[in-house]
Amino acid sequence: MTLHEKIKRAIAAFRSGNKAASTPEENWRKFQSWLAGMRTDRVKLLPALSAFVAEMVARYPDGSDPRPAFYLAPYVQKHGILPLVVHWTEAVGLMPDGSVRLFWTGDGPPGDPGYEGLRKLDEGQLKADAGWNFLIALIDGARTYPALQAIVPARPDYMRTCPVCLGSGRHPEEPVQLCNCHGFGWALVE
Ligand SMILES: [Zn+2]
Repeated sequence: MTLHEKIKRAIAAFRSGNKAASTPEENWRKFQSWLAGMRTDRVKLLPALSAFVAEMVARYPDGSDPRPAFYLAPYVQKHGILPLVVHWTEAVGLMPDGSVRLFWTGDGPPGDPGYEGLRKLDEGQLKADAGWNFLIALIDGARTYPALQAIVPARPDYMRTCPVCLGSGRHPEEPVQLCNCHGFGWALVE
């Protein structure tokens, strides 16, 4: 940290009435415990949003989805789930009742049997990883479906706009990929 940054932080701390501003390490720990404490199995959907999710699920196979990935259509139909973020072999989706679930999307490495059905995000994972996956899914999902912005957790006040993607959440050179900020569009900036 440069002297200039130290002074800026001290002034900010003085203004906010804190004895000292948090260090990046403290903020990182705060972020980790925020994620670990997150309820990742469902979100509360108001009836209008629930109806929106149901409609997007129903319309998915006809290609009217703003980001149709046609190979996912059979899974969307089978599970009744709207994909929010699609990873290599799994996707995280949202159901009209507010359930947030993982589902297998095929194309795994040879010998990987995958799985049927839906899984909660914290099944077989560290709780903090479930928080990461949950947040990534909601934030990226709301980029595809702006109506879902209403259910995205507020950005913690100690986070700043990501200097790499400038908040877009997408890799600047490979927009199909998430930025290194995990697609949040914000990051801990020292
Ligand atoms: Zn970024």
